[in-house]
Amino acid sequence: MPRYDFRCRSCGDTFELSRPMARSGDPAACPQGHTDTVKLLSTVAVTGAAGARAAPRPAAGGGGGGCCGGGCCG
Ligand SMILES: [Zn+2]
Repeated sequence: MPRYDFRCRSCGDTFELSRPMARSGDPAACPQGHTDTVKLLSTVAVTGAAGARAAPRPAAGGGGGGCCGGGCCG
């Protein structure tokens, strides 16, 4: 069962709830009993930004000339 993060706008608390995906949009009460809560985005989005920054890229001008550039042609 997926877990969802919620934040209470009454007391500012954040909490997790496990619930079926079909009920992910249902209102959730915070541990203190407040019902003025909002569902937070999952952490899935974080991997996209981190992955783009960490992508290995060869340095520019690092070849492409093939055989003759390396001197193996004589
Ligand atoms: Zn609360």
